[in-house]
Parts: sequence; C-alpha cells; structure tokens
Amino acid sequence: MDLIQLKDVNKRYDDGFVALKNINLTIESGKFYSLLGPSGSGKSTILRIIAGFSQPTEGKVYFDGKDITDLDPAKRHVNTVFQNYALFPHLNVFENVAFGLKIKKVPMNKIKKAVKDALHMVRLDGFANREISELSGGQQQRVAIARAIVNEPKVLLLDESLSALDKRLRKEMQFELRAIQKKLGITFIFVTHDQEEALSMSDEIFVLNDGKIQQSGTPVDIYDEPINDFVARFIGDSN
Ligand code: ADP
Ligand code: MG
Repeated sequence: MDLIQLKDVNKRYDDGFVALKNINLTIESGKFYSLLGPSGSGKSTILRIIAGFSQPTEGKVYFDGKDITDLDPAKRHVNTVFQNYALFPHLNVFENVAFGLKIKKVPMNKIKKAVKDALHMVRLDGFANREISELSGGQQQRVAIARAIVNEPKVLLLDESLSALDKRLRKEMQFELRAIQKKLGITFIFVTHDQEEALSMSDEIFVLNDGKIQQSGTPVDIYDEPINDFVARFIGDSN
C-alpha cells in the first residue's frame, strides 16, 4: 500500500538555491528504502520534507492519501535518527529513550513497558541504567534507534546514521538495522552516499543527483540496468 507520496516537490532555499527539482516518489509500507546520492544531491532535504522540518516551495506531501504538506512534525508518525545520534549525555539510557514520552505525559507504567520493548528490539536489554558515556559507538547508535521507535512510528528516517562508525561496526549495524526493520515491519528510509551500503540493504533505491531522482528500482535493477551515465558511473564506483 502507498504510505508516502511526494508529488512535484520543488525546494528553493532562502538564498535562491534550488535543492530539489520536481521530485516524485512513492513509499510503500513495510519496506526498506535508500536515498542514495553524492553529497549535496538533496537527500537530507527530502528527509526533512518528509519529517516536516522543512516545507516544499512547490508540490505536496501525502501520508496514507492525506495531504500532510503543512502538518506539524509531531503529528506525522515519522521519526528521524540523525548521524550524530543527538543523545543527552547527562541522562542515562532509560531517560534518553523515555524523553519524548515523558514530554507527552504518557503514564509511567506505559513508558516503562515501551522503553523495555524498544531496548529489547535493539538488543540492549539490561542497559536502562547505564550512562551514555560508558557506551560504545554502536551501542549509542542503538539507543538512538530505540528512542526513535519507542513511540511506534510508521516510518523511520535515518540520515547517514552509520557514516560515523568504523567499517566493521558499520557492517554489523547494516545487518542489525535490516533485522530491526523486518521485526518492526515498518518503513525505513535510509540516506547514504555509499553505493555498496544501499545495494546490500535496500528493497528499493532512489538514486539522486543534482536535486533530481535519476533512477528508482530494486538494487538488482539499478545495478544491472543503470538508466544513464551518471547512475552507471556512480554505481560503478562501488565495484
Ligand atoms: P545531501 O543530504 O544529499 O548532501 P542536502 O539536501 O543537505 O544534500 O543539500 C542539497 C543542497 O542544498 C546542497 O547544495 C546544500 O548546500 C543546499 N542546502 C541545504 N540546506 C540549505 C539551506 N538551509 N540554505 C541553502 N542551501 C541549502
Ligand atoms: Mg545530507
């Protein structure tokens, strides 16, 4: 089923720079998507528009068939995991994961259950009372994911969220992310500039360059039949 649609989305920033040019894309529920492209191609801008942190200059965003172009980010069932995790270093794991639920004044027994489930999902059972500073990079990444799934979003946006990790840990987290996505059964939209990462993880990939979608399809489709020179070169770089 179509979950999110961007229709004819253009984004011109205040300085006049046009970051997105006529973007049309459809996201279905329960799949793992990647937005793949070089630095500056517009990946983060698309995520911000889906999350509601930024508005398109022209065009519309639909969720479950409803126009959400101007809807408040908090009402979108969409959460974001950022590259730097944005954890609170002075709060323990439980407080970090519980933070948003506490602000919404969810009852404490429900918060405890939701945090326990989220930590279980990222394989951090028993970590609730640990300090953020004692955790490894991979564990901090998993806390950030737990925090982003604790209120049961329908879509998780991940912006270069593995890019800060070393190579071995990154491979491990690729498997982990895919496993979490499958278990939750929700849609992940994963931003990366790494061809190999997108090809190995995704059900579907949108290849971006210069604010335009160059090609969309399964990893096999894109790998086997790149639609133009840009895609051929960009995907070829990973060989
Ligand atoms: P990516 O995530 O693919 O690296 P972005 O979506 O962050 O690309 O940015 C796309 C283009 O828009 C880049 O050229 C960037 O410099 C420009 N850009 C991003 N944010 C702003 C802004 N607030 N004002 C002006 N230009 C911006
Ligand atoms: Mg970016």
